[in-house]
Amino acid sequence: MNILEHMNAEGHEQVAMFSDPASGLKAIIAVHDTTLGPACGGTRMWPYESEAEALTDALRLSQAMTYKSAAAGLHFGGGKGVIIGDPHKVKSEALMRAYGRSVDTLGGRYLTTTDVGTTARDLEFMRQETRHVTGLPVSLGGSGDTSIMTGLGLYMGMKACAEEVWGNGGLRGKTVAVQGFGKVASHLCEHLMEEDTRIVVTDVFEDALDRARDWGLEVTSPNSIMTTDCDIFAPCALGGVLNSQTIPQLKCRVVAGGANNQLLSDDDGEELHRRGILYAPDYIINAGGIINVEAEMGDAGYSPERAREKTERIHEIMGSVIRTSQAEEISTAVAAAHLAEERLDSVRRIRSMRRSCQ
Ligand code: NAD
Repeated sequence: MNILEHMNAEGHEQVAMFSDPASGLKAIIAVHDTTLGPACGGTRMWPYESEAEALTDALRLSQAMTYKSAAAGLHFGGGKGVIIGDPHKVKSEALMRAYGRSVDTLGGRYLTTTDVGTTARDLEFMRQETRHVTGLPVSLGGSGDTSIMTGLGLYMGMKACAEEVWGNGGLRGKTVAVQGFGKVASHLCEHLMEEDTRIVVTDVFEDALDRARDWGLEVTSPNSIMTTDCDIFAPCALGGVLNSQTIPQLKCRVVAGGANNQLLSDDDGEELHRRGILYAPDYIINAGGIINVEAEMGDAGYSPERAREKTERIHEIMGSVIRTSQAEEISTAVAAAHLAEERLDSVRRIRSMRRSCQ
């Protein structure tokens, strides 16, 4: 990949690479856009097969964070960190602290929190080295686990989709197929279980499946989740799962899940639209976590009520994406992008007016 050319084309401001041989840290932090505020996004730890794969993930995820915060009306830009390594095997205090030092070198341009493969405990280690960490445990004055609000936001987004497809937002008796049973999926499932929704889950991690069975959920294999007959498919693992190979196999009316960057390409959003599958753009409905983090940043300190109220607004935002998609005869993916880009453009205009008045 020609990195600078790619950054230029997609609007990335900065990509930084970090190595700490003593702890084994190999990490990349991408800052996409800071128009709306400091770049904020979780840190993912994953056994990427190559540095190129990790870089692509950091670039795509950081861009999605810009759109997520813009669409949710937050004062954050978009950024993302990735650590190359298997979180179940090579994670250590030394590695997380080395990563914290890396975050610190960016001087607050990037704020981190958890993502796939990282937990609140890891944030505590990072916090020893930098203050640019959010979503810390409540006991440390933070807002706690972001995945709780992310799960609530997903549930709200799903209900907005259900209203459109089935005429009401009730999910009782509906079947939801959940790919990945990690933090976000678990919190989503708590809400669904309260409504007596039928839930089928899968994961590649055996402990996660054992937990799902303990909760009384149906479990299926990772290979069959996308062909499961269901009302809603909820991708809650990694990105790129909606593509030209998988979309024709889907047996659902709605796709609404928490994973970032579910569409492998823009064409895949169009294909879902063409097939009459209502797609809830990931960054619209999975914004609960970043909303929670923003609620931690105010002068008055963290307010769970404010975070919850803002997260519940995802229902309204998803509804407006659906209405725009219908009125303009465009896919929900494009309607969501317009919503985010309009906000970014309007803030850029305000800034340039201010500059010209100075
Ligand atoms: P997590 O690590 O707790 O859970 C992810 C789960 O997916 C793990 O159990 C993993 O084993 C499983 N998995 C990975 N590949 C799989 C596959 N091919 N098939 C089935 N299962 C697979 O992470 P999380 O925090 O729950 O995040 C899940 C997704 O939601 C990620 O894409 C993340 O970027 C996104 N997201 C998370 C948050 C948050 O607040 N944590 C917020 C917004 C978006």
